[in-house]
Amino acid sequence: MNINKFATCLNCMDGRVQLPAIQWISKNYGIDYVDMITEAGMDGVLSNQESDITSILMKINISLKKHGSEKIFIVGHFDCAGNLVDREVHKKHIKLAVSKLKVLFSSSEIVGLWISENWEVEKIYI
Ligand SMILES: [Zn+2]
Repeated sequence: MNINKFATCLNCMDGRVQLPAIQWISKNYGIDYVDMITEAGMDGVLSNQESDITSILMKINISLKKHGSEKIFIVGHFDCAGNLVDREVHKKHIKLAVSKLKVLFSSSEIVGLWISENWEVEKIYI
């Protein structure tokens, strides 16, 4: 058993949003380590029905099963080069992604996060 607490984060690959996501999750949820799974524009990838998310799901399962993570965070952010939509559409994508993963991982807590132009993290309520 791990004594460290892990969480799983589905984030953009953008280097600017790694530390803000890790620090916010650690601080607000008492997490020791954040397993980071990235794609360019992760919120767009997850919300798009056409996307093949097999490898993302495989990585989530490793984090949940091997590290005992019980929480999955989905991040969208300002000035995203991988998902060129405005703030409101990002939030829609994040909500869609959260709903999708809630069905697939019903025993995990799924949380949507938005990272603003000031690199501040806010929780998205559905
Ligand atoms: Zn991005």
